[in-house]
Amino acid sequence: MTVVKRKNWDTYFMDIACMVSTRSRCNRRHVGAVLVQGKKLLGTAYNGAPMGVPDCSEAGCMISETVEMEVVDGNEKMVKKQRCIRTIHAEQNLLLFTDRIDREGSTVYVTDEPCWTCANMLANSGIVEIVYYRPYRKDMEKVRAMMASKGIVFRQLESYEPPAETMITVSE
Ligand SMILES: [Zn+2]
Ligand SMILES: [Zn+2]
Repeated sequence: MTVVKRKNWDTYFMDIACMVSTRSRCNRRHVGAVLVQGKKLLGTAYNGAPMGVPDCSEAGCMISETVEMEVVDGNEKMVKKQRCIRTIHAEQNLLLFTDRIDREGSTVYVTDEPCWTCANMLANSGIVEIVYYRPYRKDMEKVRAMMASKGIVFRQLESYEPPAETMITVSE
């Protein structure tokens, strides 16, 4: 008799976030996020243009370049960063489509480590835990520092394996 190992909850909810991410039409990054309270799924979202507005696959990505000051080896340095700004990020859509009361004490599973803006919003959204799979190097340092100071559980599923064909190659 074959014993099939039952999925743990982390894998279960991250698998759902990965499936949700396949709805995204931004060629740079497909992100999926789900809101979980206890073991209950309370919302799903992916990154995309507002409803009824042309998305990245139709209108192309809208690339914006910003310059941010970072301290590298004790020296202040201006670092250029490119992002697609056509889409509303998955985490922000999740906040737009869920209620505050559902978010209090809840967990967000998201395929990618949140960017600075999303992390900032999540930190103020009532959620107490963020679980992600792919690291996002651009904002990693300040996001992790902020989560630590806010006391939000922030963890990466390092040995996680996404369901086949749900992940695309992302641009850094
Ligand atoms: Zn895009
Ligand atoms: Zn974001």
